[in-house]
Amino acid sequence: MNKQIKSTLKKNLEKRKISIEKQLKKFADKDKKLTGDWDTRFPQFNGKESGNAAMEQAADEVEAYANLLPVEHSLELRLQSINNALKKIKTEKYGFCEKCQKKIEDERIKVYPDAQYCLKCKNN
Ligand SMILES: [Zn+2]
Repeated sequence: MNKQIKSTLKKNLEKRKISIEKQLKKFADKDKKLTGDWDTRFPQFNGKESGNAAMEQAADEVEAYANLLPVEHSLELRLQSINNALKKIKTEKYGFCEKCQKKIEDERIKVYPDAQYCLKCKNN
């Protein structure tokens, strides 16, 4: 792969990494024990309510938490994929399909710089 394209893609990956980490930091903390893992913070609205209002608030917190989990999961997966690509970009393997070893289409790698597979393998 052309060095110039590679460096553009690397910058693009780094930018995406920062933006995903920013999104994650809003509601989750990096797991200190497990690299690449994030934990959604349990939302705490305020503890001033009592009785029914407190129960309602607790239900809202659980709902907010449940809504965040899939968001966290998908951001986490994207971040892992980007980190893998950033590791791979230092090697000659970058830009080649991990399944059939063929070169990943230019149009595809430009849109998905962290693509692991060529279009054919991806669709199979
Ligand atoms: Zn392939």
